[in-house]
Amino acid sequence: MVTLSRNPNESAPTEVTAPSTATLATAGSVALVPGAEPPLEQRPAEQVHRHESAAGLYSIYETVRRGVLEMGAGNSFRTLLKVNQTDGFDCPSCAWPDPDRERKTAEFCENGAKAVASEATKERILPEFFAAHSLSELLTHSDRWYEQQGRLTHPMWRPPDSDHYRPIEWDAAFELIARELNALDSANQAAFYTSGRASNEAAFLYGLFARQFGTNNLPDCSNLCHESSGAGLTEAIGIGKATVKLEDFSHADAIFVIGQNPGTCHPRMLSELQKAARNGCQIVSINPLAETGLIRFKNPQEPLSLLGPGTPIASLFLPVRINGDVALLKGIMKEMLEEDVRTGGRVLAHDFIGEQTEGFEALRADLQSADWREIVDNSGCSRELIQQAARIAIRAERMICCWAMGITQHKNGVANVQTIANFALLRAQIGRRGAGLCPVRGHSNVQGDRTVGIWEKMSDEFLAALGKEFHFSPPKPHGLDAVGTIQAMAAGQIKVFIALGGNFLGATPDTQLTARALQRCRLTVQISTKLNRGHLITGREALILPCLGRTEEDLQATGAQFVSVENTTGVVHQSHGVLPPASKHLRSEPAIVAGMAQATLAARTSTDWSGLVADYDRIREHIEHVVPGFAQYNRRVRDPGGFYLPNGPREGKFTTSSGKARFTVHPVPRHDLRLGELMLTTLRSHDQFNTTIYGENDRYRGIANGRRVLFINAQDIAERGLESGQLVDLISRDGNESRKADRFKLVPYDIPRGCVAAYYPETNVLVPLHSVAERSNQPAFKSIVIRIEPSPAALAVQSLGSA
Ligand code: SF4
Repeated sequence: MVTLSRNPNESAPTEVTAPSTATLATAGSVALVPGAEPPLEQRPAEQVHRHESAAGLYSIYETVRRGVLEMGAGNSFRTLLKVNQTDGFDCPSCAWPDPDRERKTAEFCENGAKAVASEATKERILPEFFAAHSLSELLTHSDRWYEQQGRLTHPMWRPPDSDHYRPIEWDAAFELIARELNALDSANQAAFYTSGRASNEAAFLYGLFARQFGTNNLPDCSNLCHESSGAGLTEAIGIGKATVKLEDFSHADAIFVIGQNPGTCHPRMLSELQKAARNGCQIVSINPLAETGLIRFKNPQEPLSLLGPGTPIASLFLPVRINGDVALLKGIMKEMLEEDVRTGGRVLAHDFIGEQTEGFEALRADLQSADWREIVDNSGCSRELIQQAARIAIRAERMICCWAMGITQHKNGVANVQTIANFALLRAQIGRRGAGLCPVRGHSNVQGDRTVGIWEKMSDEFLAALGKEFHFSPPKPHGLDAVGTIQAMAAGQIKVFIALGGNFLGATPDTQLTARALQRCRLTVQISTKLNRGHLITGREALILPCLGRTEEDLQATGAQFVSVENTTGVVHQSHGVLPPASKHLRSEPAIVAGMAQATLAARTSTDWSGLVADYDRIREHIEHVVPGFAQYNRRVRDPGGFYLPNGPREGKFTTSSGKARFTVHPVPRHDLRLGELMLTTLRSHDQFNTTIYGENDRYRGIANGRRVLFINAQDIAERGLESGQLVDLISRDGNESRKADRFKLVPYDIPRGCVAAYYPETNVLVPLHSVAERSNQPAFKSIVIRIEPSPAALAVQSLGSA
């Protein structure tokens, strides 16, 4: 055991087992990270009334309150009316698509408004802030506190062994980056991380810079969220993206929402589900928790319905056990198969299966031999519920399946995705109006970044086209993904880490190990709009480079620029900021990338980086030449609403090597929990976007003023001799090692026996780095085996009281 952190409020240190691959750097800061200790100002969570319908008047109140508080009344009005408009800017939050044609005056949700207010806040972090606060002191605050401090305004440098950031000029920052990069023994000792906020233009330049420097080490947040969708779907249907358009939701007879909580993570999706439900579409929710957004929805755009009970959304809820999806879907498909036999072949799409797919016989044999007891035990759903779901699927002429992290972040995440594809293929539910597959992306341009080259293993065709366009030889060997980057940093093999946006420390697993890995770097660089914990756990030296946000005007040498992004349904469209920049020292992401590239590559690049930044049309011209599907990019991106990228399966043409869709066979996963152990899934509160914490309330789950809560079945509490509201420590098992997150309040909740849920990033510390999905290497945040123990700190904290 190694003591990694100490809360100044406590006399007893937290003990966390230290993985042997990393050593604790002593770079002048303590390694206090989420999950290790509750921050100083954190109050005990309270259990309060749970809202029974999503959105409604309260969401309007929250939108106005946050907007006025953060931006002031004038800016709120001016800014929010430009969100997701064809002449405005793309919401920086999730990747839910906008209507192709006419848009409403207010085309955003409460959480989109929070994201905009957070970025357009009047609060500022000036250089004096860092003079007044050491890193050691800043580390004692919560993620929410960082979020409240405002916009970063000036490039900052943390010198070696210093506990403070100090101001630095842009040119000096670029020189420092160039010096450290050029001092490396190999280009592969650097890693270039991208978060899903970066625009197509910034991401394309960033990938170009990394490859001209000589590496494919381009980890991204897609490695952490939908890598399993990409891997699974590409193999099954030939493309790793959604095959539906937004309008398909209005034409569906059934929509299966699997491992996804749209009410919090993609709120405008509820409007489409409401429309669908009113059209008679059957909506099936498959999730361990019955999430409020899928129960009832009060559309804020419909004043008359705000006072009523709201529209019921899901007509059937299947409370699947955590990672019971393969078992459940097998059960549904087995029912469909049996009904097909009973009706003489009237259920399955036999012609389609025969002509356009392969592998069906193996799937049929697997389903026929599947054992009902195993299906029911592993899914946690009764045979009757499974039959009801199968009947909905059988009756649906047109069916859409949507999913998110509840499906992908498991060791068998790829198998989960491919099992959903099997389910859709049985009745040819792909490539038709009102039917298809829809992995719903969580960050606004995570899909576009991948399209334009942010991936550690882009195809040979892409690399050849990039090399031809820019007259160089891109490196061929695959680079490191997010997990590989942490492993390499921990082993001292990555020495310079640059992050284009995001909060790498907060978004990744095994927080203590990741913190130590970052601390082993010679230089860490964060290109950011706001402060986060990742700025405080740094390499020997560190830089914060403040950039323009989506809401802000981007003025370059030839005038005002816009950027472009791709949403979940593959629509590429433009985004124009409308506000003056938060500080005159900010630079755009393309300008920062170009500055780093020019300083680092100097005579080794023939690319006109300054010219590209002066006029983003020139960047888009290059993208058009390198990436298929972008013909006439500059013209079509100026069309209101943008344009669709090509998508074979959406047009009924499978783009696999054989030209056929593939059925695949996957076993029901086994977990072999020991006596007393529980399966933990991580989740997001309604006051949170990814790792950004806007507040400590989660009204859809009845939680106020705190985040360290464990949602648990009341019988599991009683069976352990514990009490509602009691504080417990969460301990995950990993061979002989254990990881601990302490002081979580037990909240009795309607969740299957043996399953528990808690918020991330606080619980990321429990996920071993090597706990990843097979074939996608995506961290398994959603299936963590834990045990719980009464917290020794319980007596020191006021009890929650009985629920
Ligand atoms: S649904 Fe997503 S993209 Fe749309 S406004 Fe809400 S957070 Fe933003």
